[in-house]
Amino acid sequence: MESLVEVKDLYVEYNTVKGVFGKKQIIHAVNGVNLDIRKGEILALAGESGCGKSTLAKAILRLEPPKSGEIVFHLKKDFIKSAQMVFQNPYASLNPRMRTVDILKEPLEINTAYSKEKILEIVKEKIKMTGLDEDCLNRYPHEFSGGQRQRIAIARALVLEPEFILADEPVSALDVSIQAQIINLIKELKEKCNLTFLLITHDMSVIQYLSDRTAVMYLGEIVEIGRTADIFANPLHPYTKALLSSVPQIKKNGVKKIMLKGDLPSPENLPQGCRFHTRCPHVMEKCKNCSPSPKGSGHTVRCFLYDSVL
Ligand code: SF4
Repeated sequence: MESLVEVKDLYVEYNTVKGVFGKKQIIHAVNGVNLDIRKGEILALAGESGCGKSTLAKAILRLEPPKSGEIVFHLKKDFIKSAQMVFQNPYASLNPRMRTVDILKEPLEINTAYSKEKILEIVKEKIKMTGLDEDCLNRYPHEFSGGQRQRIAIARALVLEPEFILADEPVSALDVSIQAQIINLIKELKEKCNLTFLLITHDMSVIQYLSDRTAVMYLGEIVEIGRTADIFANPLHPYTKALLSSVPQIKKNGVKKIMLKGDLPSPENLPQGCRFHTRCPHVMEKCKNCSPSPKGSGHTVRCFLYDSVL
């Protein structure tokens, strides 16, 4: 499958100031990520909060400048029209003072020279596509439920007919009863509009249901990537195994929950060697000093345990 986005050896870091003496610290948020997002797929980025997935997403959408590396898009139209984002919180992402129709018209008015009639036609088409009626267009965001607001946010992302949508925790702010509806809507729109998604979520059940491939991040590195079905059936990296052991459906199949020792180390002071060695149940001496490189094709993993196997 062709790539739509290629991320090449990407590093992103930023400065923070800490403590009463204003000590400067460098946060190493993304550390040498290589990733390709293929046309027509939903690629999920999994990992705990603080693992660098949101920073990587921001860098891909050009909202965070990289320290080094490259992001290459193979888009048919210009970037502004072709790459859109759906945010986590539909309560905060819609302007409360604007009617739905104006929220949806805005990107078209700014980025196209379409007539008023054509703009309204597109707005009506997209709102219907997300399962809402045209009557909704004259109402304000506060008049809608969380699920309906997320539908409006998705419609707004669709009006410029993008090729790529980055969805950052698109259902985590919603009631559980509503989550499945939005997940199904994303799945349906992907097929209908021929979209490519980068899905960021910490929820492994959402990943299992929605994504074609999964990349697992730990301290700014991709530690495992492969088809979602393969990763769930046969997780290789000890960190992936721990993440999956906390999914209820998998626990039912007899896998015990793997409790990791300690907290996620600070991205200010990255551990030497394998970044996961401070918490890994299988740590070996060499893991403390040497960094494993990705092994395998299709399903790749960064761990010395597979050096002689893959
Ligand atoms: Fe654990 Fe070593 Fe593999 Fe890192 S390289 S995940 S520390 S076994």
